Amino acid sequence: MATTATTATMTSKFPVRRVERSRRPSVDFDNLPFGSIWSDHMFVADNIDGAWTGAEIRPYGPMEIYPSSKALQYAVSMFEGFKAHKTPEGDLVVFRPDMNQKRFNRTASRFVMPELPEELFFDAMRELLDVDRGWLPDAAQGALYIRPSYFGTDPTLNVTPGRSFRFVLMTTPVGLYFTGSQTVSLVATRKFVRAFPGGTGAHKPAANYGPTMLASVHAQEQGYDNVIWLDGHEGRFVEECGVMNMWFVIDGTAITPPLEGTILPGVTRDSLIQLCADFGIPCEERRISVEELLDAHAAGTFEEAFGSGTAATVQPIDRLGLDGTDVTLPQHPDSVAARLKAELYGIQTGRIEDRHGWLWRP
Ligand SMILES: *Cc1c(COP(=O)(O)O)cnc(C)c1O
Repeated sequence: MATTATTATMTSKFPVRRVERSRRPSVDFDNLPFGSIWSDHMFVADNIDGAWTGAEIRPYGPMEIYPSSKALQYAVSMFEGFKAHKTPEGDLVVFRPDMNQKRFNRTASRFVMPELPEELFFDAMRELLDVDRGWLPDAAQGALYIRPSYFGTDPTLNVTPGRSFRFVLMTTPVGLYFTGSQTVSLVATRKFVRAFPGGTGAHKPAANYGPTMLASVHAQEQGYDNVIWLDGHEGRFVEECGVMNMWFVIDGTAITPPLEGTILPGVTRDSLIQLCADFGIPCEERRISVEELLDAHAAGTFEEAFGSGTAATVQPIDRLGLDGTDVTLPQHPDSVAARLKAELYGIQTGRIEDRHGWLWRP
């Protein structure tokens, strides 16, 4: 792709190499697989022996990495994900990036990668969003998904903490089509375990996702969309579903499993707990077993199940396979899931008052 010569703009902290012609006009928002089209630019910076260097904004595209790098050999690689939306006034607002910034550094520390200074994270985001502002869809079309990625670049095979790392910030427009308006079905699995105490389940390493794909393929072979993950110790308690946090509504109470080390502390999960409080919906963070769900189903009090995560926001679930019993959950327009989803979307897009100070403006 042709680019103009390297120039530092008057206002930019970082050198910016701009693409000559944007690919923006080719985006078909109605038919856009998640993360399949990337905005024109990316932010790149390296950490070498503890010092940040080489920060710049350059055209989005391939980059060179040694095949022996720690990222490729040993999965020293991690990511984050959150969204920017357009308000009715046309402003760009980002949903709770401070939460992702903190979680980013918690994951980095778990993999003995240097923390990214808060200021670098926000400066990089501010400047990249400024350069690629034209990629932000209207709220009716979708959102701009922001993907920070961070990985080890040392070309050495010793299994010791590295000395060189690369941070990349990139953005991809996502359609509303991916906000999970359709329902999905799930089956509880004991064949696969997502996370174990002492492992990395509460962090966001790249390797959180690779090992889950075979489980979802197995679920699909059984006629479900994805799996419900159970605890790896007893195989009794629900932990997450697919790559989302898990929620149930039983007899009017919303229940989500507690953050005890094997569950990813989702920003969406945290936000929904707050919205339940706002709505006066009883909400409990506690362990919930497959047995309890089957008992509630038998008693007629099992009302809803849904997943939560940045990509789909609130994902309603209409069928659960639990130890051979198929639990079907009728969908209602005034369900807890629907109310939380509408409220969250309203706040994220500046249509409902940001009463918790969740929106960040670049
Ligand atoms: C990212 C992620 C989630 C959702 O977290 P959000 O911050 O709400 O996007 C849930 N589970 C896993 C395993 C994840 O990696």
